[in-house]
Amino acid sequence: MTVRVPFAAPARESAAIREASLVAFGEILDSGRFVGGPAVSRFEDHFAEFCGTRHCVSVGSGTAALHLALLAAGIGPESRVVTAPTTFIATAEAIRYTGAQIVLVDVEPSTGLLAADHLEPLNLTASDAVIPVHLYGQPTNMSEIAQSAGPARVIEDACQAHGARYGDRRAGSLGDAGCFSFYPTKNLGAAGEGGAIVTDDESLAAECRSRRDHGQSRKYVHQLLGFNYRLDTVQAEVLDLKLVTLDKANARRQEIASCYTQAFARLPGLSTPPEVANSESVFHLYVVQHDRRDELAALLEARGIQTAIHYPVPIHLQPAFADLGLGVGDLPVAERFCDRILSLPMFPGLSDEEVQSVISAVEESVDSLA
Ligand SMILES: *Cc1c(COP(=O)(O)O)cnc(C)c1O
Repeated sequence: MTVRVPFAAPARESAAIREASLVAFGEILDSGRFVGGPAVSRFEDHFAEFCGTRHCVSVGSGTAALHLALLAAGIGPESRVVTAPTTFIATAEAIRYTGAQIVLVDVEPSTGLLAADHLEPLNLTASDAVIPVHLYGQPTNMSEIAQSAGPARVIEDACQAHGARYGDRRAGSLGDAGCFSFYPTKNLGAAGEGGAIVTDDESLAAECRSRRDHGQSRKYVHQLLGFNYRLDTVQAEVLDLKLVTLDKANARRQEIASCYTQAFARLPGLSTPPEVANSESVFHLYVVQHDRRDELAALLEARGIQTAIHYPVPIHLQPAFADLGLGVGDLPVAERFCDRILSLPMFPGLSDEEVQSVISAVEESVDSLA
């Protein structure tokens, strides 16, 4: 009998916080305070402490976090912002919102992470920025990025990397600011939408705090052009409850990842996520590569294993970014990467039996393609 293994099951993660969340929700209903308030500040304090930064500014989404961090870093229509084409569309959207020029550079073939050697020839200035995306939970090599970025600001897209480590520091604490998403399937997920900016830079934090709430400096005095990018109180409560077990949940992801990697080592034509020195991935996703990716996905589906592709089309080939003037062949490493990647089931609630089912199905499927 085959066990069906879902790609994701966010409801499984809710069980542990169900009772406490309902109590908190009752208190919120009784208080009449639905946006902001002490619960939001409490979560911000806890998340800043978790990341090892002085400040955390919560917002309504990861996209909002990226947008505000860029604005607060001084990015505008005169700026260039460099990022990788192998990311979720939100990274590029946030750059576009600022009016800056988007510069996409090619990536490392095994990880899909921004290849720092493409930065130096750009001669970036202090009015430019780089957004390294810690794709799938694997931190980018930040010392290489810092060196090649020169005076440009570095804004981390840590939307997939809550708790990941680079050296002895957490993702999000490595650049000028770090941006997180709390979308339900992320390593730290809300019961709805959410996001945050973390930073040690007091004035950057203050500008993000102002702009998330219509640019108010005090009630009805609007110093800056702002947005409605605030976090709900309910989300702050849920996030605060889940933050307590985030390291444990990430450890379970790492355990599943090492079972996968060990089992797949002998399989011909299948590449597994490489171990990257001086860093610790939190495996938001476990992504393998294979030349016959679509056939592999179909074989796995037939064996009850759900898979997904993150992401099938690189940013420069998305219709919404056609005006960048790039086409097929312009960023060849990224294009080949997007054609070969396949995300296997990876979430802390996967049972050992399900992990074994994935392993058996991948072994059979890859062998049958050999
Ligand atoms: C999820 C994600 C975002 C956007 O976060 P939202 O909360 O969905 O707005 C940005 N970048 C990356 C890499 C992501 O995975």
